Amino acid sequence: MRVPLVDLKAQHQELRAELEPAFRQVVEQARFSAGPFVSRFEQEFASFCGCRFAVGVGNGTETLWLTLMALGIGPGHEVVTVPNTFIATAEAIRLTGATPVFIDVDEETYTMKPTLLEAAITARTRAILPVHLFGQPADLDPICDLARAAGLAVVEDASQAHGADYKGRRAGSIGIAGCFSFYPSKNLGACGEAGAVVTNDPDLAERVRRLRDHGQNSKYDHAEFGWNARMDDLQAALLSIKLKRLPQWNEARRKNASRYGHLLSGLEGVRTPREASYAKHVYHIYAVRLARRDGLKATLQESGIECGIHYPVPLHLQPAFSYLKLEGGRFPVAESCARELLSLPMFPELTEEQMEYVAAEASRFLQAGSAVTPYGRN
Ligand SMILES: *Cc1c(COP(=O)(O)O)cnc(C)c1O
Repeated sequence: MRVPLVDLKAQHQELRAELEPAFRQVVEQARFSAGPFVSRFEQEFASFCGCRFAVGVGNGTETLWLTLMALGIGPGHEVVTVPNTFIATAEAIRLTGATPVFIDVDEETYTMKPTLLEAAITARTRAILPVHLFGQPADLDPICDLARAAGLAVVEDASQAHGADYKGRRAGSIGIAGCFSFYPSKNLGACGEAGAVVTNDPDLAERVRRLRDHGQNSKYDHAEFGWNARMDDLQAALLSIKLKRLPQWNEARRKNASRYGHLLSGLEGVRTPREASYAKHVYHIYAVRLARRDGLKATLQESGIECGIHYPVPLHLQPAFSYLKLEGGRFPVAESCARELLSLPMFPELTEEQMEYVAAEASRFLQAGSAVTPYGRN
């Protein structure tokens, strides 16, 4: 049996009858960039997130970059974030000219540990950028309390958490802004590149809108420097169709996670994901934690089961961030995540047979291993 890490073909097969006419409609209207399909999707996505505004841009990296820029963050400033994330989170900080400041994450949830925040804040700090890793919101209340007291903005990197909840509120709607990627493999994915910023702040929405279009207020009136970060209408039209399915896809992911949890519960030395009491997790990624991660990965791959590592090198140890001069050992939880987390296949259409096969192959590997330890079988 072959089990892919994600299966977009299964999703598109199901939606073909709706995606193809939308594609033709965009071609016929011939409005391809920040046009009517983008406006419609912006309204739908804002409403889905429980926010007043959404601004569609070219990709998730631009949502973070333009939001930080719109908040006036630049050279001489610091933004606090975590090292166990996709590089775009910290790259966006660097692109504004500000410096990323990393803090370690919680041992159970792998998201920003609020108790480490205070010590990281300096006179240069302007914002806090928590990441809702793997589909589970970071613990936002203590983060927002601290930010309010210190006069800092909270920007949520919600690129893995479309439709997740924090204490009943949508991820992305709680900080000053929520930043979403619609990279194809995300829970809500375009058929290409796209992203959106959501916010309740009209000034921030307006400024991101201006920055995505060369800083122009009206045609050829450039108030400031921006970028070409407009969203594509074709992607918006396809995203409008997929957004209607997102709640049911997220429920399917949650059901699959619960099934995996049951199937893997007896395995010695394997920790399945923990759902925090404050969160509704949407399992963008289903990552198990174990000391023998690399061995399990190799065995599963040999059995036709695709696995992933999110992420093999924490950002403070990436060559691109060597200028920060942060040594290994500095963020022990994030570093052990890099050594021990293994992402198993996870997508809404995953079948019972596929999950049973993954669990059976994992169990075979772990039992074979324990038989050769000096202590014998345990
Ligand atoms: C995917 C992702 C991004 C970047 O999104 P792109 O659309 O690929 O630019 C940023 N942050 C996180 C946590 C992501 O997973």
